[in-house]
Amino acid sequence: IKLIDLKKIYSHKYNKTFALDGINLSIKQGELIAVMGPSGSGKSSLLHILGLMDSPSEGEFLLNGKSLQQIKKHKVHKTRNQMIGFVFQYFALLKDYSVIDNVTLPLMYRKSRHKERIAKAKLYLEKVGLKEHIYKKADELSGGQQQRVAIARALVGEPELILADEPTGNLDRRTGEEIIDILQQLNSEGKTIVIVTHDLEVARKCNRIIELIDGKIHTDQFTKSL
Ligand code: ADP
Ligand code: ADP
Repeated sequence: IKLIDLKKIYSHKYNKTFALDGINLSIKQGELIAVMGPSGSGKSSLLHILGLMDSPSEGEFLLNGKSLQQIKKHKVHKTRNQMIGFVFQYFALLKDYSVIDNVTLPLMYRKSRHKERIAKAKLYLEKVGLKEHIYKKADELSGGQQQRVAIARALVGEPELILADEPTGNLDRRTGEEIIDILQQLNSEGKTIVIVTHDLEVARKCNRIIELIDGKIHTDQFTKSL
């Protein structure tokens, strides 16, 4: 991913907010990145743009060398669904549905068979350590377990990039550590991962820390080499 002089501007009646104000950033395959910065510094805006959920106001977004501005809208949706998995602070599960149903859901858009969807979901639920709980309703699980379900849901489409918006923000420290350990493990298997976090312990486990202030990159440190 390459962002060139990227801006996200929200216009109101009397003023403009530069949520992102000239971001230049390259993300290589296999990176594990923490995005930090105070509230309002542009972290969510950046994550939404990286996740193809929102488009920039100015600048360029290159994905595998191709400019996204030149790709048609339905293709952008397709790219998002195939390449990107999302993990949220509040898990965003369907709480009345079973664990397995939550995880097979992203595959409903694809032309895959029921049996294959179940097999894939089971595979990734096993990977996050939830094999025993697959027929429980999502809201019967603890917060940490729900976040594991959310990670399995993010993984089931086999995306290259995982975007996590404060994935430990709603968990106690120990449970949060377990979630980060899972993300770290996935990264060591080759996934590119970007985590928005306020937690320095989480950031320390990443190999790059980007700090935003007022929509600009304030610091960009490689803490470990790939
Ligand atoms: P962070 O995630 O670091 O808290 P955001 O990306 O959410 O930062 O916000 C960056 C700036 O953009 C803030 O000033 C925020 O108020 C503004 N902003 C974010 N979303 C919107 C929106 N939909 N409409 C108007 N302003 C917005
Ligand atoms: P659009 O309005 O551009 O059609 P949406 O905002 O409805 O797009 O989001 C559609 C896609 O974005 C989903 O298929 C999913 O990949 C991703 N997405 C957006 N919000 C969520 C969410 N809360 N949980 C999971 N995926 C989400």
